[in-house]
Amino acid sequence: MGYVAKNDILDLFIAQLTKQYLIFAPKRFKNGGIYSDTDCIRYGEVTSIDQIVFDEKSEYSFKETVLPVIQTLFFFTEGSTKEADITQKEIIVFLRSCDLHGMKRLDDMYLHNGPADYYYQQIRSKVKFVLIGCEHSFENCFCVSMGTNRCENYEMSIDKSGENYRINCKNKDWKKQLSDLNLAEEPVAPSYVTENLIQVSIPGNLEFTVAQSKIWDEYDSRCINCGRCNFVCPTCTCFSMQDMYYSDNGKVGERRRVWASCMVDGFTDVAGGGSYRKKNGQRMRFKVLHKVYDYKKRNGYHMCVGCGRCDDICPEYISFSNCINKLSEGMKEVSK
Ligand code: SF4
Ligand code: SF4
Repeated sequence: MGYVAKNDILDLFIAQLTKQYLIFAPKRFKNGGIYSDTDCIRYGEVTSIDQIVFDEKSEYSFKETVLPVIQTLFFFTEGSTKEADITQKEIIVFLRSCDLHGMKRLDDMYLHNGPADYYYQQIRSKVKFVLIGCEHSFENCFCVSMGTNRCENYEMSIDKSGENYRINCKNKDWKKQLSDLNLAEEPVAPSYVTENLIQVSIPGNLEFTVAQSKIWDEYDSRCINCGRCNFVCPTCTCFSMQDMYYSDNGKVGERRRVWASCMVDGFTDVAGGGSYRKKNGQRMRFKVLHKVYDYKKRNGYHMCVGCGRCDDICPEYISFSNCINKLSEGMKEVSK
């Protein structure tokens, strides 16, 4: 069951929620796009329903709400350390089905891949999700091929339909608040897409031997290793550690973790001067096979959720979905 409401009623509901929660959703950053006269849709704090962008895909994923781009972990002085404060409020994140599946991948990496990551867990334990329904597929999406076009593990879903918002609420407290606003219950289910223009096919016989194929070579010159594909991806989880010193004595400062990219120079540098995957094609191979091959061996499903953001953002028009579709050609080549 659910509710149908207009902006003014939803704003009352959101105003009540903001007493207890910080709310993050895709919002428009005017003139924040890559060119001076373009906007950027990315995640930010919202306090009213009109601030949420429903009709466009966000260029960046929800990831930065649980895994900040730069996160101070603790402060240190000569004799002591102090953990960085985190918000005392709970958090609500509005996101689409592919991203909610992406959340499961982040949890795999940060909570279930060995001991749970303390800093991630602190934020993650505060988060609840509101699913944004997808009435239609966006450019470059291939969620249906990846099986991420539907999900059930949300507290509430919301679809914008003309002037109305269609809500399916599972959270008991929120249901009560919505009923107190005199909304009558009616049957509502979140919309989801059943087909995308882009389809991918991951060969059933995919083996690591595909790493020897020549399909990777074209990326040596096409990719400029900017790392944008990693930063927009909801399932890329790598970070670097940085110690920032406030003083010349080098003993007072803070430790941060900062998003990292397997596509940029220096990612594979190791002590002693070693450096691996120097060619861009090698980096593409590593990224692609991590997303649609080796991760599945460990977790039973692919890491990539088919959001298509890496294809949307690449300045060299390199298509990740095209690359997946070349894997069968690669397997044929190395199986000869
Ligand atoms: S966004 Fe494109 S050019 Fe930049 S690192 Fe990724 S694949 Fe290479
Ligand atoms: S690899 Fe590309 S399509 Fe797959 S989840 Fe990451 S950004 Fe989305």
